[in-house]
Amino acid sequence: MNFPRPLPSPNALTAPYWQAAHQGELKLPHCEACAKFHFYPRSTCPYCGSAKLAWQAVSGKGEVYSFTVVHRAPSKGFEALVPYVVAVVALAEGPHLMTRLTGVAPDAVRIGMTVQVEFQKQDDETTLPVFKAEVRT
Ligand SMILES: [Zn+2]
Repeated sequence: MNFPRPLPSPNALTAPYWQAAHQGELKLPHCEACAKFHFYPRSTCPYCGSAKLAWQAVSGKGEVYSFTVVHRAPSKGFEALVPYVVAVVALAEGPHLMTRLTGVAPDAVRIGMTVQVEFQKQDDETTLPVFKAEVRT
């Protein structure tokens, strides 16, 4: 039996993020007043308070800021994934976001390793951004 994993429920603030991901782009809210990116999406800029925000594509490049290895699936939908890596990625543009790492064995993940966004289509409406580790040998 195939157990589904929970998927995001976009709202007015987050829908642009998920729409961009579904089109294979990583977009973040960008403040037009102070020119800084932030994440997670908010109605006003956390740095200057401006409501002049616009979604802009970012490079999708970053590095591992912190991580943990999940060995026990939080629900049946995750059982096929364990062990997997949940990481906080520091994007090149500044903001941090929580994600799942791919392309690297959990015991090979290191703080500071370079990662690049990639997209995993879940169904006809939802695509999840994950980050692929660039492993140098
Ligand atoms: Zn601002």
